[in-house]
Amino acid sequence: MALFLRRIPRVAVPLGFRNAFKEIPNSCRGRRIPLGAAAAASGAAAFCFFSPMVAYLDSQNKEDSEKVALNPEKWLEFKLQETARVSHNTNLYRFSFDPTAKLGLDVASCIITRAAIGEESEGRKKYVIRPYTPISDPESKGYFDLLVKLYPEGKMSQHFAQLKPGDVLEVKGPIEKLRYSPNMKKKLGMVAGGTGITPMVQVIKAILKNPDDKTQDS
Ligand SMILES: Cc1cc2nc3c(=O)[nH]c(=O)nc-3n(C[C@H](O)[C@H](O)[C@H](O)COP(=O)(O)OP(=O)(O)OC[C@H]3O[C@@H](n4cnc5c(N)ncnc54)[C@H](O)[C@@H]3O)c2cc1C
Repeated sequence: MALFLRRIPRVAVPLGFRNAFKEIPNSCRGRRIPLGAAAAASGAAAFCFFSPMVAYLDSQNKEDSEKVALNPEKWLEFKLQETARVSHNTNLYRFSFDPTAKLGLDVASCIITRAAIGEESEGRKKYVIRPYTPISDPESKGYFDLLVKLYPEGKMSQHFAQLKPGDVLEVKGPIEKLRYSPNMKKKLGMVAGGTGITPMVQVIKAILKNPDDKTQDS
């Protein structure tokens, strides 16, 4: 896992993407977690974007600080802002929304995405639905990042492969998996294969950015 993550900063990606540890305080770097390189994956999602953000926010009637973009009951459209190639079969995708809102995701929850892939017999749209775990900081406002492995014949990942900046993706959530809270366990052992790395990145990043979180991770 660490090897995979170490590769990420080496690839050609937008400028801010290389500031892999930007969201993590200096004091926390290299602390406790031998998989420190893993933070590179999540931090690597720190693109620099300057284009205007388009929001499809289903904002709740709350103060700005509490606004969330996701709605667990509704499919909402999020606009693709930029993509970056991470490896021969893995891309990063940044989607934008209201810059005053957070996505509304806990560590380490996921979202579900859907794409129309034809029609049912009665003319209704036929959808493929797949879960993904954003690797951007849940506190980030106005965007979220997905790290997606592209399968040659994968229905949703090939839909991702065809997305261009300006296109939209339908998203619903959050879907809670493990609600991580600081120091909930003394030690965490992680075993992740392939795209299973994305929730690990969320948890590792949450630990690294919080100096009060003493969790030992391996
Ligand atoms: C909680 C959760 C979080 C996830 N987070 C992420 C994430 O952050 N990033 C990520 O990349 N993925 C993530 N995944 C995996 C993701 O949801 C999809 O499963 C993945 O992208 C593949 O979906 P697909 O539609 O592209 O492929 P599918 O169409 O489901 O196909 C998957 C593979 O099976 C092969 N295949 C399909 N049909 C057949 C067949 N009939 N016979 C033989 N082979 C076949 C395809 O070629 C492909 O290689 C997550 C999964 C879960 C459960």
